[in-house]
Amino acid sequence: MSDRDLSGRKVDAVVVGAGFGGMYMTHLLVQQGLSVQGFERGDDVGGTWYWNRYPGCRCDVESMEYSYKFSDELQQEWEWSERYSPQPEILAYANHVADRFDLRRHFAFQASVISATYDEVDKVWTVDTNTGTQVHARYLIMATGCLSAANIPDFQGLTDFSGQTYHTGAWPKEGVDFTGQRVAVIGTGSSGIQSIPFIAEQAEHLTVFQRTPNFSVPARNKPLDPKLAASIKADYGRFRADAYQQPAAFGAHFPRREDSVLGASPEERDARFEEYWGHGGFMFLSAFGDIGASPETNKFAADFVRKKIREIVKDPKIADILCPDSIIGCKRLVADSGYFETYNRPNVELVDVSSSPIERFTDAGLNANGTEFEFDAVVFATGFDAMTGALLQIEIEGRDGLSLKDKWSAGPRTFLGLASAGFPNLFMMTGPGSPSVLANMVTGIEQHAEYIADAISWADERGVSSLEAELDAENKWVEVVNMRSEATLYPQCNSWYLGANVPGKPRVFMPFIGFPDYVAMADKVAAQGYEGFSKT
Ligand code: NAP
Repeated sequence: MSDRDLSGRKVDAVVVGAGFGGMYMTHLLVQQGLSVQGFERGDDVGGTWYWNRYPGCRCDVESMEYSYKFSDELQQEWEWSERYSPQPEILAYANHVADRFDLRRHFAFQASVISATYDEVDKVWTVDTNTGTQVHARYLIMATGCLSAANIPDFQGLTDFSGQTYHTGAWPKEGVDFTGQRVAVIGTGSSGIQSIPFIAEQAEHLTVFQRTPNFSVPARNKPLDPKLAASIKADYGRFRADAYQQPAAFGAHFPRREDSVLGASPEERDARFEEYWGHGGFMFLSAFGDIGASPETNKFAADFVRKKIREIVKDPKIADILCPDSIIGCKRLVADSGYFETYNRPNVELVDVSSSPIERFTDAGLNANGTEFEFDAVVFATGFDAMTGALLQIEIEGRDGLSLKDKWSAGPRTFLGLASAGFPNLFMMTGPGSPSVLANMVTGIEQHAEYIADAISWADERGVSSLEAELDAENKWVEVVNMRSEATLYPQCNSWYLGANVPGKPRVFMPFIGFPDYVAMADKVAAQGYEGFSKT
C-alpha cells in the first residue's frame, strides 16, 4: 500500500519510527488485535542502525545483551559473530526481525511525520506526513529514537565548501570511498572515535578537529566465542534477568566492584585498573565502587586513562591534546578499537579547536586557528540534538492547542519519560525522564513497549478512552529525575545528556539514572491502576 493510499485511514495506533522501538511496539499492538499504522522516514527498518553506516560503526554493548529477549526462539536462533556487533550485522538482525514477525506491512516507508494534532472531543490524533498522507488514531506512539536528529553546527560559510560533506548519523547507503582524499573529521565523541581509525586507513590525509578530548577505553572486540554464546543460550532467561538488575541493564557477567579506590594501595589500584582496561568496554568504570562518587575518587580512574593515552601516543604534544581534563564517565565513555594509536600514523593530524572555534568554511576547506585547511571531504561527527530533537521536529499539538515545543521550551517535562500532561494518549518510547540512553537501549525499548501495550489494553478493557499524565505526577517525576542526577557527577560537564552540545538548548539533565529503580517505580504506577494518569 503506498503512503498516499492510506489517507483518511482510522487506526487504533500510529507508531512513528521503524527502529527497534517501533518494530517491537507494532508487533505487540498487532498481537493484541489493534490496527497499527507505522511511519518511517527511511526506506526500511533499523532506525539508528539504518542511518549510522559510517566506517567502524559498531555497538558498544555486547552482542549477547544488545538484542531482543521477547522471543526465546529468536534469541536462540540468531547468531552473533563478534563480541560487539558491527552495524551491518545489527541491521541484518533488524531486517530478520521485520521478516520473522511480518512487520513491514504495517509501515509506510520514506514518510516523515510532520505534525500530530489531538482532537479532545473525538479523542483522536490526526497525523500528517510530508507525503501528504493524513491518518487518524486513538493512540500516538513516538518511537523516534534518542539520537536520531543529526546536529550539524551552524558553521559560517558551510554552503561555500565545494567538497563532499557527510554526517555520521546520515551516512550514504552505498558507502563512501575516501581513497586518495584529504579528509576532515570534526568531532571526537563515540562516532568520531569509532570512524577515525578506519578513515585514516583509507584517506590520503586525515585532519581531526577536536574541541573537547574524550575518555575512551579499548573495546577489545573479538570474534564471539561459540562456547560462550552456547553457555549463555543454555540459560538465556537467567542471563537476561541478571542484566535487568544492573544499573544500566547490562554487564552482569563481569564483577562490578564495590570497594573504594581510596582503600587500595597504588599497586593494587593499578593492578585493578589494568584488569578492567584489559577486559575492555564500559565495565572499566566498575573497577571500584566509588569512581563516580566524587571528583577526587574519579581522578584515579581518569589519571590511569591519561597515563595509557601517553603510553600509546608517541608524540607527547599530541598526547597532551588528547588527554581529557575532566571527569571520566561524565560525558558518555567511548569504547574504541585503535583510536589513540591512529595518531601515530604519518597521515593523521590533530587540530585543537578548544580555545578558538572553527572560524569558517571556504570553497576549498575551512579556516581554524588562523590556518587555512583544504579538503576533498568533511565528516561531521558532531552528534545529535539528543532525546528531544526528533520529537520536537514534529509539530505536536495536544489539548487546548498546547504545543509540545512550547511546553518543553525550558526543557522536557514528562511523567515516567512516557507521557506528558496536555498530550492524552501520546506515549514516548525511551523519552526524556526514562533510563533510555543510560541503559541498554534494547532492554529499555522492550520494557517501554510492553508497558505501553499493557496500559492500552488496561484502558480498553475498562472502557477508558484517554490516558493522560497528571501535571502533579509529572512535576514530581521531573523532581525525581533532577534529584537523581544532582546526586552524581553527571551535571559537571557539558554533555549531550544535558543538551549542552546544541547552542541554545536548555541545560536539563534528561535521562533517569538507574534502570531497576525506574522499572520498580513504573510497575508500581501500573499496579495502582496507572496512578498519576487521568482517565476519561
Ligand atoms: P557526541 O558524543 O555528541 O560528539 C560530538 C562531537 O562533536 C564532540 O566531540 C563535540 O565536541 C564535537 N562538536 C560538536 N559541535 C562542534 C563544533 N561546533 N566544533 C567542533 N566540534 C564540535 O556525538 P556522537 O559521537 O555521534 O555520539 C553521540 C552518542 O551516540 C554517543 O554518546 C553514544 O551514546 C551514541 N553512539 C553510540 C555508539 C556505539 O554504540 N558504539 C556509536 C556512536 C554513537 P564537544 O565535546 O566539545 O561538544
